[in-house]
Amino acid sequence: MATLYIIGTPIGNLEDITLRALRILKEVDVVLCEDTRVTKRLLSKYEITTLTMSYHAQSKLAKVDKILALLEEGKNLALVSDAGTPCISDPGSLLLAQVREKFGDEVALVPIPGPSAIITALSSAGISVAEFTFLGFLPHKKGRETLFKEIAQSERVMVFYESTHRILKALESLEKFCGPEREIIVARELTKIYEEFARGTVAGVQAHFAKKADRVRGEFVVIVEGKQDHKSSKGE
Ligand code: SAM
Repeated sequence: MATLYIIGTPIGNLEDITLRALRILKEVDVVLCEDTRVTKRLLSKYEITTLTMSYHAQSKLAKVDKILALLEEGKNLALVSDAGTPCISDPGSLLLAQVREKFGDEVALVPIPGPSAIITALSSAGISVAEFTFLGFLPHKKGRETLFKEIAQSERVMVFYESTHRILKALESLEKFCGPEREIIVARELTKIYEEFARGTVAGVQAHFAKKADRVRGEFVVIVEGKQDHKSSKGE
């Protein structure tokens, strides 16, 4: 029976990889990558010479037939994305769905846990995160306003991913819908040289990022405290 391992890889610092992940990456027949150039940087750091193949091209699933054929031959494969945990705001789910559809339980899907930006950010947010809602990337147009209205009304911590190009716009929307006083945490460039946590009110964090153009570069996780938490932290 073939196995498809779903492996979490670093979100910046290449040392953030488990011993088990390294062993499996060495042992499998092929590593399925989002972008082979990105994964090869990780593999070469650990002198892993396993064959790589891209499963993702121009935002679409690629080489599915080839991948299914490899599994049919009994080959063991590893699925990775460019960073973090595959299938979490990343490609991979469609491929897994096709594997399940064709093979059912004949191919084992085995998770090899590793970093994920959302959990990394929440772990050091410094607020109670016993419960939270993860929104992935926010829509650019349709549904965006409704979602921000939901965030504004939510008593639960809300978390979303944001890119360099859209972080300021996201902060503007938070100011518009939640008000300048809502408490947020913006985690930037986690595990990398310029890692930072900007904590405070929406207005305060906006001012922080407005001070230096450099600060809006990189990758971001935005954590919005619940409406209730915000009130109680202000003694209301
Ligand atoms: N699968 C990944 C995971 O498990 O975290 C997420 C991939 S998603 C395509 C990329 C987004 O994740 C970025 O736009 C950013 O919001 C977040 N992200 C990834 N790496 C990050 C990092 N080092 N610091 C902060 N956010 C990060």
